[in-house]
Amino acid sequence: MSTPIWKQPGTLAEQFWKNGKLDFPVYDMHGHMGSHYAIHFYRHTPELMAEHLRKAGVKHLAFSHHHVIMGDMRNAAVAEICKRFPDLYRMYVGIVPAFPENIKEDLAMFDQWTPYAIGLKFLPDYYRIPVTDKRWEPALKFADERKLPILVHTWGSSQYDGGPVMLEVAQKYPNAKFFLGHSLYGNWEYAERLVKETNNNVWLELTAIPGERKNIEMLVEKVGSERILFGTDLPWFDEFQGIGGVLSADISDDDKRNILCRNAETILGKDW
Ligand SMILES: [Zn+2]
Repeated sequence: MSTPIWKQPGTLAEQFWKNGKLDFPVYDMHGHMGSHYAIHFYRHTPELMAEHLRKAGVKHLAFSHHHVIMGDMRNAAVAEICKRFPDLYRMYVGIVPAFPENIKEDLAMFDQWTPYAIGLKFLPDYYRIPVTDKRWEPALKFADERKLPILVHTWGSSQYDGGPVMLEVAQKYPNAKFFLGHSLYGNWEYAERLVKETNNNVWLELTAIPGERKNIEMLVEKVGSERILFGTDLPWFDEFQGIGGVLSADISDDDKRNILCRNAETILGKDW
């Protein structure tokens, strides 16, 4: 039997298993915060999440707040939370299509939330409004004009944020940077097409993927590690599970650095 990767001297896995940290910053590009009606999270407050993130060596968590997504909190309040943890939290401005006036106001505020606001968050499947629907348009145009990231919840089988509709919008807005949350889970063919048939403006995000063996290897094989971003959905999943999953994958240490650190810096700069 071959030596497990975390026992192989000099590997990133060995470093992480031994020290609980890596010698470079990790960026978690898909998080949330706050309680949720469907599940109890012990660790959902800014304070408890911060403690956990720092322990795992995560430099920034880019997140959207559950209460914003559910429509009972405004993005301005999230910016205030970020200000209390300026070195750690970055926010996606949550776009709730049911409230067009709020969208207008929030986009007008975007610049005032610098450097905390880094992009937008869409959850088409939650609202059962296809990403191609007119109600998303003002936010799509805004991101396209400013070359901003949009983290979109995507799922392979969804008619609202699955392969065909995501391909349509990613081609229609070639300057917006689409982070495909969950990498179009299950529809790997479209995940690959999204990366290859667009204007270099699509990245696959790994939330929910490290829990299954061989999916990371398969995605790296299909699109290359430069197009893959690390994310956990914290507090839904754990940082150590996510980082451990990437480090355990049968890909090179260089690929792992790309996924956990470099790609985020390439997209957003070294000091975001
Ligand atoms: Zn999520």
